[in-house]
Amino acid sequence: MFFIFGLGPKTKVIEKSQFNCPVCRSRSSYELKQQRNYFSLFFIPLIPLSKANASFVKCLHCGTEMPAQVLEHAQPDPQRNSNLEA
Ligand SMILES: [Zn+2]
Repeated sequence: MFFIFGLGPKTKVIEKSQFNCPVCRSRSSYELKQQRNYFSLFFIPLIPLSKANASFVKCLHCGTEMPAQVLEHAQPDPQRNSNLEA
């Protein structure tokens, strides 16, 4: 019997939404992702080996990956919003 097994990170998209990207400075879509190491058998991730790592955000416009904390700072602030609508 021959087993193919391995260890590897598996990335899961937790959330998709929009934010003000600090890198490309435009309003764009992002994916909030979380990465976890899995023990996999026949390329199927079976057992999570670690607690979920820090999540990160990928800007779908410029492709930059950044810590999830940017979302806290990238929320549109009310003052700028009202300027845009005026
Ligand atoms: Zn961007």
